[in-house]
Amino acid sequence: MLVLVLNAGSSTLKYSVRRFDQERTLAGGEPIAKGVVERIDEGEVADHREAFEIVRGELAQALPGCVPDAVGHRVVHGGERFTGPALVDEEVIGAIERLNALAPLHNPPGALCIRAATAAWPGVPQVAVFDTSFHRTLPEHAWRYALPDELYRSHGIRRYGFHGTSVQYVGRRAAQVLGISWEEFNAVIAHLGNGSSVTAVRGGRSVDTSMGFTPLEGLVMGTRSGDVDPGALVFLQRLGYGPDELDDLLNRDSGFKAMAGNNDMRAITRAAAAGNPEAELALETAVHRLARYIGGYHVSCSGARAVVLTGGIGENSADFRARLLVRLGPLGIRLDEAANRQAAGRQGPRVISTADSAIPVLVIPTDEEHAIAEATIGAVGPR
Ligand code: AMP
Repeated sequence: MLVLVLNAGSSTLKYSVRRFDQERTLAGGEPIAKGVVERIDEGEVADHREAFEIVRGELAQALPGCVPDAVGHRVVHGGERFTGPALVDEEVIGAIERLNALAPLHNPPGALCIRAATAAWPGVPQVAVFDTSFHRTLPEHAWRYALPDELYRSHGIRRYGFHGTSVQYVGRRAAQVLGISWEEFNAVIAHLGNGSSVTAVRGGRSVDTSMGFTPLEGLVMGTRSGDVDPGALVFLQRLGYGPDELDDLLNRDSGFKAMAGNNDMRAITRAAAAGNPEAELALETAVHRLARYIGGYHVSCSGARAVVLTGGIGENSADFRARLLVRLGPLGIRLDEAANRQAAGRQGPRVISTADSAIPVLVIPTDEEHAIAEATIGAVGPR
C-alpha cells in the first residue's frame, strides 16, 4: 500500500511516499520518494495549489505512473470537533476551512492541498490528521482559561494544544521500550524543535499541554516568546503597538532569536561554551522554564513513569539535554553523561539517565510523517 503524506507549512509543502508491506501490522513505511517545495507565497511559487502541482510533477518523475492508495494530510487545527484522523469529504473540508481563523497561517494551505489532491485523484481516499486532536482529552480544568465564558462560547478561546501527532508517536514508542502498556503509561513528553511544547500524558491520554489557544504559549522557542504576562501586551498596546506588530514581535522576533541573536541550537550552545553571556542566559532561561513545566506536569499526570525528549533539539543537542537533566535533580533524575554524549542523530530510542535515576529519561526520534501515514491507514482501513 502506497501512502502519500502531504505536510503543508505556512510557506512550505513537504511530501513523502511510503510503502507499507502489510497494512495490518504497519510493516515498512520507509519513504520511497520525498521532497519539499519551499518559498511558497514569496514570489517563486504562487500558492499551495501550485506547490501541489510541483509535487505531482516530481512524483511522476520519481515514481512513473504511481497513484497513491491513500493521501494523508497534516492539518494544524482541528478545533473542538476533530478528536482523531478524519476521512475527508466536502463537509470535512468545509469544517477545516471554518477553522482558518484559528490558524490563519497553517489551516488554509492544508485545506488547499486537500482540495488539490482530491481533484487530482478523485477516487483516492484522503485523510486529515490534526496536530490538536490528541489533546481533545484534556480535562476542562486544564483547557479553560479563567476568562468570561462568553470569550469561549463566541470566539472559541481555550487551550487546544499542538504537536499531538508527534507526542503520541514518541509516547507510544517510549511505552514499548519500557514494556508498559500505552493505556497505563504516565509520562511527560517534550517536543523541542523550532516550535516547542511539553505534554502530560496519563493513561495514554493528554491531560495537560503547554501550547494554548495558539502555538505561542509555553516554552522559549526558536523565534516565539512562549509565556509572557498578558499585562505586558496591554501595556505595549497603550504605547501604540498594533496587532500585526505584536504578532511579529511574539511569533517571529522573540525566543532564542531575541535573546541569543540566533535560533539555531548548535550556534547557541557553541556560543555559550565560548563564554557568550547572551547565549548562556538564553539557554538557562529556556531550561529553567522547561524544567518548571516538567515538574508541574509530573504532578498533572499523577506521577510520570518517564520523561521523553524529541524534536530537533531534544534528539540532537546533548548540551541542552545535559543542562535540563541537571535541573531535574530534585525529581531524583540522574544524567548518564556518557549515554547522553553518544553520537547524536536519528538512531532509535536511547535512555540518557542512569540506572538509579528515579525516572528514566528517554530520547525518542519523532517522525511526524510516518505517524501521519499510520493514522491514514488506520482511518482508511486495509485495501
Ligand atoms: P525541528 O524544528 O524539530 O527541526 O528542530 C530545529 C531545532 O533543532 C533547531 O534549533 C536546530 O538548531 C536544532 N538542531 C538540529 N540539529 C541539531 C544538532 N545536531 N545539534 C543541536 N541542535 C540541533
